[in-house]
Amino acid sequence: MELILDRVSKRYPNGVQALQEVSLTISTGMFGLLGPNGAGKSSLMRSIATLQHIDAGAITFDGVDVVREPEKLRERLGYLPQEFGVYPKVSAHDMLDHLAQLKGLSNRAHRRDVVESLLKKTNLWQHASRRLGGFSGGMKQRFGIAQALLGNPRLLIVDEPTAGLDPEERARFHHLLTEISSGVVVLLSTHIVSDVAELCQQMAILAQGRVVLQGNPLEVTDALEGRVWKRFVTPDELAAMQGRLTIIASRSVAGRRLVHVYATERPDADFEPVAPDLEDVYFHALHAAKAP
Ligand code: ADP
Repeated sequence: MELILDRVSKRYPNGVQALQEVSLTISTGMFGLLGPNGAGKSSLMRSIATLQHIDAGAITFDGVDVVREPEKLRERLGYLPQEFGVYPKVSAHDMLDHLAQLKGLSNRAHRRDVVESLLKKTNLWQHASRRLGGFSGGMKQRFGIAQALLGNPRLLIVDEPTAGLDPEERARFHHLLTEISSGVVVLLSTHIVSDVAELCQQMAILAQGRVVLQGNPLEVTDALEGRVWKRFVTPDELAAMQGRLTIIASRSVAGRRLVHVYATERPDADFEPVAPDLEDVYFHALHAAKAP
């Protein structure tokens, strides 16, 4: 079972080219789509979910031509959009039951079992009669997953699901995604590098509508081995480096500024080699994509 994107392009009526010849092959398990805001992640997710048309290219899922037969894709799709609205006054149980009816689960006893098992799976069973308006961000996202899993989807799309979650909620949400990803294609879009580092066997980085890197997170990280160097700098030193060196990260560590630089050889004696992480890969790929 595979989701195949072949040179998918999308331009909005206002002239923004959101996707440019995006080609990816995505198998079962968790696939991370990483990119900064505006990279085109949501545009890609909405196109795969058949919520908008593409201008060119092809999308197939498990042999189904998604563009020609969108209804067939929808039967197998679970989707958690970036903005997932709920009725605040309705309980989790009643909302999920209602959504299950809309999904076509008309048999009452069967529906009751499905709703109960999904609320248990997402750890919300003890809150089933609480109103959704009182849910925390993490609980809302887990409810979002429960509704996305109605109808046993084979393709699950989750768009920036961990934005705004605190670390504990995020860990719990990660755990849930890992649990449900076996035998299912899960496409996770995020601008949070650690989401992908922690969860995904495969990933792609999107920038300005193009795929700038794809692969296994560990392998793409290994590929940078020996090319990342670190050094603490003062603001003046940092300014002097700009333009001269390829700075891929500059972050505060205990009140001091630490830079990571990409270079095939040690830039100067003050730099130390550092084992690359996925964040280095990400910023290097974005930097390389921008370079003329
Ligand atoms: P991401 O999800 O990575 O933040 P988006 O897919 O939302 O990126 O956006 C990609 C580009 O397309 C951005 O420049 C954005 O402003 C533009 N865009 C997104 N949706 C629309 C739309 N409905 N109409 C016009 N431009 C859009």
